[in-house]
Amino acid sequence: MAKTILIVEDNDKNRILLRDILTFHGYKTMEASDGEEGVSLAKEMKPDLVLMDIQMPGMDGFEAIRVLRKDPMTWNLIIIALTSFAMKGDREKILAAGFNDYLAKPIDTRKLPQLMEKVLKVNVHVEKETNVCVRG
Ligand code: MN
Repeated sequence: MAKTILIVEDNDKNRILLRDILTFHGYKTMEASDGEEGVSLAKEMKPDLVLMDIQMPGMDGFEAIRVLRKDPMTWNLIIIALTSFAMKGDREKILAAGFNDYLAKPIDTRKLPQLMEKVLKVNVHVEKETNVCVRG
């Protein structure tokens, strides 16, 4: 059965690009254009994976993951950050926030499906107490 990926991204162009690549690779997609919508769709639909933009107006990616990791319905979702920051230390900050992995923008159209396959294959979950991702 096709895995479902929720794309939470405020930039229309990026969202459409992500949807097109993922659909082409056989995934089902759902879309939200802001953090609030993303959080409620994640709770309602329980996707196999969430692609979460960090920089969004209103509720940003960091705030959205905080809400999702606290909720008993969504705390163990696989959530990948989409980031355009190129600063040192961001990786640590993103993983410390509870993201399972991250993808830098601009989106590499070959890297994206590889990453999706990798994270969906591995049994990943997040320790509820510590927000730390555990693999295997
Ligand atoms: Mn954005």
